[in-house]
Amino acid sequence: MITRYYNAKILYNNEIVEGDFVVYNNLIASIGAPVMGLMPDKEVDVKGNLILPTFKNGHTHSPRIVLRSLSKESIDLGYYQNVERVLNDDAIYWLTKLAILEYLKNGIGTVSDMYNKLDPIMAASNESGIRNILMHMINNDFAKGKEIVSVYEHGLETYNSGNCKYRIGLHSEGAADYTLLKEISALSKIDGQPVFAHLSESKVEVQKCIEKYGKTQVALFRDLGLFNSGGTVFHMVEPTEEDIQILSDMSVNVISCPSANAGSGNGICPINRLRAKGVVVGLGTDGPIANYSYDMFNEMRMAYNLQKIKYGDKHAISNIEVLNMATVDGAKALGEKIYPGLGVNSLADFIIVDIKNIERIPGKNLLENVLMCANGSNVLTTVVNGKVLYDSGNYYIGEDVDKIYSMCEMLVSDILKRL
Ligand SMILES: [Zn+2]
Repeated sequence: MITRYYNAKILYNNEIVEGDFVVYNNLIASIGAPVMGLMPDKEVDVKGNLILPTFKNGHTHSPRIVLRSLSKESIDLGYYQNVERVLNDDAIYWLTKLAILEYLKNGIGTVSDMYNKLDPIMAASNESGIRNILMHMINNDFAKGKEIVSVYEHGLETYNSGNCKYRIGLHSEGAADYTLLKEISALSKIDGQPVFAHLSESKVEVQKCIEKYGKTQVALFRDLGLFNSGGTVFHMVEPTEEDIQILSDMSVNVISCPSANAGSGNGICPINRLRAKGVVVGLGTDGPIANYSYDMFNEMRMAYNLQKIKYGDKHAISNIEVLNMATVDGAKALGEKIYPGLGVNSLADFIIVDIKNIERIPGKNLLENVLMCANGSNVLTTVVNGKVLYDSGNYYIGEDVDKIYSMCEMLVSDILKRL
């Protein structure tokens, strides 16, 4: 199947090029020019709109969409744990499908889900066509009575399937005792797999770690060998300069979640400083509890503006750096190097952004206008692995959208009654 998208603006090698964008099955065959001798099966007029790589939402917990709009007071009281306790596989499956609708309409083609029941999340992801980097959220509760190495082996065998991949996931330092931290460290040495974990999510938890172990969480992870195979950490609010050096030395990536961190009053990730030290930084929405929206334009704008506030410098970070964090660097931070961005022979993971409906005049700097003015509703089309999954309000995910909404409405009302 050859699809020729024409009359397009395309972000290619950090520049905007104009012309054709040709997709051959699941690969990009040409950028900027038609492919001589290839007769397209389908032609799509992009009408001067902008083709970007899909967004990579580097950190989320999809079933927690059920927690959206719970009051902060309820959350503080641990109400959400009661909600999560009553979520069975069926509920997790439908709630993940609901989250996937929102990811796709916001231009997200890859997510990374951390959760302790992965079977229904994998099923929902593979059926819809979205990519999902899956990991358990291992903590003391989850580990009780289990052999962690068996959890890992089962994960490798089961969740590297279809559009899903499996990684080692640790909830956080605070949710794991010393023995469990050592067990996870040992796991990472079996196949050289990196560990994914929440880390330095708040100043309070880092302080508790210093009181308990006499060092920051980052230093503790290094000393326990948790970074021996690299790693990817979520949040990384207010690390010390020594922490940043450790992350750089140990090739640890960071997924910054600016809206979630701001919403929780936890602080700002020093993206600028991390990048200057060579740390790969991607962006994530996290999920309801801390952040109710899956709009990556919002995450980009938050990251962009918060870095300027943090460093007192309006040039602290550029628009293209932030766009790369949400796309190419996000993929790299998740350990996905095979489809980093738009290029010939790259996997066809891309979106079309309607630039006619954003504040675009004057249009001297299109990327700046997109970054400052666009939102998820300006995404016209989301394509993953060459397959159109979302286009102009319609979903092509092998499921009736009304059924997803009605199942979720029924499930949520049932869950609230049972609490
Ligand atoms: Zn999280």
